[in-house]
Amino acid sequence: MAEKRDYYEALGVSKNATTDELKKAYRKLALKYHPDKGGSKEDETKFKEINEAYSVLSDPEKRKAYDQFGHSNPYGAGNGGGNQQYQQYGGFDSQNINFDFSDLGGFGDIFETFFGGGKTGGRGKKRGSDIEAEIRIDFIEAVFGVEKDFKLLKMNRCDRCQGEGSEPGSSIKTCPTCHGNGQVSTQARTVFGTFAQTAVCPECQGLGKIPDKKCSKCGGKGRIKEQVSVKVKIPAGIDNGQSIRLDGKGEAAERGGTAGDLYLHVSVNTDKRFERHGFNIHSETEVTFPQAALGTTVAVETIDGAVKLKIPAGTQTGKLFKLSERGVTKINSRSRGDHLVTVIVKTPTNLSRKQKKLLEEFDESKGWF
Ligand SMILES: [Zn+2]
Ligand SMILES: [Zn+2]
Repeated sequence: MAEKRDYYEALGVSKNATTDELKKAYRKLALKYHPDKGGSKEDETKFKEINEAYSVLSDPEKRKAYDQFGHSNPYGAGNGGGNQQYQQYGGFDSQNINFDFSDLGGFGDIFETFFGGGKTGGRGKKRGSDIEAEIRIDFIEAVFGVEKDFKLLKMNRCDRCQGEGSEPGSSIKTCPTCHGNGQVSTQARTVFGTFAQTAVCPECQGLGKIPDKKCSKCGGKGRIKEQVSVKVKIPAGIDNGQSIRLDGKGEAAERGGTAGDLYLHVSVNTDKRFERHGFNIHSETEVTFPQAALGTTVAVETIDGAVKLKIPAGTQTGKLFKLSERGVTKINSRSRGDHLVTVIVKTPTNLSRKQKKLLEEFDESKGWF
């Protein structure tokens, strides 16, 4: 992660700027970099940066802590996802970031979350779960790559509210529990003393905003369980037991968070003609005893179709021949493995009387041995 910019520097104000100077500087920059203006990725980053800087510096407590500890201060807004709710909802009201300690009594469950290892100060939006699925493909599909469609039951982004949880046409209001801050703070008394703690707001899950009217399809969750079609491009060269990660194809998060990933485990059917070892393909070819003795040319079936292989005179059974670069294309490369052919010399059976006589005559000389 890049070094964080100084908050005063981000807002272009001096270290002893007044509240009014801060507000002015912030408003000017927020207008300039607001995502609604359709600016670049840099603008978006800038917008987040100034929001974060202002949320800290406009709060006297947080500002004091920042002046003292810098970015490592315990009140820093940037631990976690930053002020992403502003990016999500665009409309920004400076009231949202003034922290109010007055009505935070009775959040027993927040303590539970805190002590149970829940994220502290994590104001970022939730991420959907990663999920796993399996797909079975044919040997040749694995060799050349294939596009597959399959169905999957998962938590999917609600199409009625676009994952935002609010009924289309209804407005979005500031969360009354956290006053738009996205997190709640309270004092914990322990044997070590009293500590100030922050936790993700349970009402808005850290977004700072809640829908005025919940979406009628998903009940305000922003996601619903449904069967979805997934299209996947399986790359050429994939092997049995390997997996593919599909970014963002996992479960949708609640209300506008990032979706998880889908891990697709690939099983490859066997093929009676070929056997695969890494990127090499193995097969066997049979020749008769006279062919092996006299030499011949055979057609070997490869993944590219039939390829001629010259068997020299005097070839013994079990000899291995290599057809260079007739194997599997290596993933993310243009080079290929080889096709290896084992020659099997068939010993003749069920000989006729005449054939037996000929072989006996042949063997009597022993000169070949
Ligand atoms: Zn919905
Ligand atoms: Zn809230």
